[in-house]
Amino acid sequence: MDSLNKLIEHFREFPGIGPRQARRFAYFLLNKNPAYLEELSRLVTDIQKTIRICSSCYRFYSVRSGVHEVRFAATAGTGANTNLCPICLDPSRERNLLMIVAHDVDFEAIEKSGSYRGLYFILGGTVPFLEKNPETRIRLRELGMLLQGRSVSEVILSLNANPEGEHTARIVKAFVTELPLKEPVRTTILGRGLSTGSELEYSDADTIMYALKNRS
Ligand SMILES: [Zn+2]
Repeated sequence: MDSLNKLIEHFREFPGIGPRQARRFAYFLLNKNPAYLEELSRLVTDIQKTIRICSSCYRFYSVRSGVHEVRFAATAGTGANTNLCPICLDPSRERNLLMIVAHDVDFEAIEKSGSYRGLYFILGGTVPFLEKNPETRIRLRELGMLLQGRSVSEVILSLNANPEGEHTARIVKAFVTELPLKEPVRTTILGRGLSTGSELEYSDADTIMYALKNRS
């Protein structure tokens, strides 16, 4: 197989990309200048070296910005762990609050709103209605381990205000309620300042602040 067809095969593995689109991507690249292609291949090579997944909240973070934070945490006596993101290491965050979101983009929207100072947990997706094994779709096992190893007083479910988001919230809430924990955890759901069908990713700071205030 020549390199053009090999590239097309790789693009076909991308989520939501069919054979026609994969082919269009490859031809798009063929029409680009060498500098563009060099930068793109450098970024692809660097991604594993510079981006890590946090072993606590499971969000992707840039290692470069993490280096300073790790040093800071070590001097603050919380111990250095290179697999923890700057937010999980930040001693000024409220560690008894854990906000659960579906994806990294939701985390970004909440964080940008500036109205939340607790920690996060990225579920990694939502659960479709017909799914019999929710743990294959979202990080339930990892969430259980985190809650059993740390004292959290409130879990805030911040999922999209659509049927699948609400279905996922019910599953996570039931899972947390049944966990054998030393101290009871309060589970709240983001207030419906988020209008029905709205997505966190596209909500403005005021809407998120209102939804957070009105959680119940
Ligand atoms: Zn983290």
